[in-house]
Amino acid sequence: MRYLVTGGAGFIGSHLCESLLQAQHQVLVLDDFSTGRQQNIAHLEGRKDFELICADVTDLDVARDCVRGVDRVFHLASAVGVELIIREPIRTIETMVDGAAAVFDAAARYRKPVLFTSTSEVYGKSPKVPFRETDDLVIGSPTYRRWSYATAKALDEFLALAHWHHARLPVVIARLFNTVGPRQSGQYGMVIPRFVRQALLGRPITVYGDGSQTRCFCDVRDVVSALMRLLDTPAAHGEIFNVGSDREITIGELAALVRSMTRSRSEIVHVSYQEAYGAGFEDMERRVPDLTKVRRWIGYEPRFTLEQTLEDVVAFVQGQLEAEAR
Ligand code: UDP
Repeated sequence: MRYLVTGGAGFIGSHLCESLLQAQHQVLVLDDFSTGRQQNIAHLEGRKDFELICADVTDLDVARDCVRGVDRVFHLASAVGVELIIREPIRTIETMVDGAAAVFDAAARYRKPVLFTSTSEVYGKSPKVPFRETDDLVIGSPTYRRWSYATAKALDEFLALAHWHHARLPVVIARLFNTVGPRQSGQYGMVIPRFVRQALLGRPITVYGDGSQTRCFCDVRDVVSALMRLLDTPAAHGEIFNVGSDREITIGELAALVRSMTRSRSEIVHVSYQEAYGAGFEDMERRVPDLTKVRRWIGYEPRFTLEQTLEDVVAFVQGQLEAEAR
């Protein structure tokens, strides 16, 4: 099979490309390197079964050209990271909304199955933990820029399902919870690469707020294998699935874990949300998926523990720091 991976030069996209190639598929990547990085896929370039197009996913002609030549589509291209969303709201909203519109339009025209990666952010401030796919989305006021990400992704979900209802276009929606692993950048806010880098450099580990907020971190390899199985499962078409881990940890505990795993002497410091993100920021206190549906439908079970993933991330960041020092 030939697959299009939009955002294939990104953190999750590049791992997905590797897994598809390993399964003997051909891969076409569409990426504009806005947040994706060339070095994420440098080891794949030059292979006969791998092709890269550097262009903007919101360009309908480009999207159509790419989709026409493949059997199936993974639409991952998107803005990422809370910090980037807050810093560049116009570009991030446009990428998410116009990009999905272009990809779904092209997929509908050539009738190609699409998996769309949405986000656990869509559950917003819902107090009903763990989150189930049928739950209400409790998104905050537009005066808090953070919520533009959840709102844009929710709109993309509506559009995907509209294509399914309108013409039975095979679409699958995966709501990704916090996904981690090597190649994730800390540049756009992601907590684990940041903590690991801070710990390895002996700098203060910056816990935002009081550190009692919780997240569940899932290894990118588990996420990628779930995405591949979901698109492969015809019964999953027209459906929404939570994908992630349901092991909950507070950010304060995470800071201590990273500190001990790296044998770092870094101090753990608390930074107010106001200092971290500027005025008018809301965080989510708890974010935990209910994984019943994905477990039942594709026999999903995360295989890697947070400690295993952290070991990989530590090794990766160590490599980055050595390269920077050269
Ligand atoms: N966070 C933190 N220090 C950092 C970066 C993030 O304490 O240097 C916190 C952040 O406020 C949030 C959690 O870690 O509560 C996860 O943040 P991330 O941006 O990785 O993902 P989110 O789950 O917010 O999308």
